[in-house]
Amino acid sequence: MGTDCLFCRIVAGEIPATIVRETATTLAFRDINPQAPTHVLVIPKEHYADVATLAQDDPGLAGEVLATAATVAEEEGLLADGFRLMFNTGAYAGQEVFHVHAHVFGGAPLGPMLC
Ligand code: 5GP
Repeated sequence: MGTDCLFCRIVAGEIPATIVRETATTLAFRDINPQAPTHVLVIPKEHYADVATLAQDDPGLAGEVLATAATVAEEEGLLADGFRLMFNTGAYAGQEVFHVHAHVFGGAPLGPMLC
């Protein structure tokens, strides 16, 4: 996608981020405005607008995003008490960055919904 996508620019190293895990195909970094004690974003390095597009076009890569999210949850110590994995998708969900990202939330009771 390139220069007009914020998360592509993070992948390219043009915008700094606190990276917690990187694989050949995925990147995990801390959210700049955390909504929970642990709030990490997990993305495919390749640009897809949202999880629906990613799952349809490259289900294997979608699985790699999930696997990285699960590993991050383990490394952040979230498995014992639980965590939330969330993909905002489209306008009604309030998606702001149109490069698919999984939110990994944890570290405290999260309540029934995070908005
Ligand atoms: P969305 O609403 O699209 O699901 O979530 C986008 C997320 O990206 C938000 O939680 C927001 O705080 C985060 N975000 C926006 N800009 C940046 C940035 O430049 N760096 C990082 N690390 N996170 C960002």
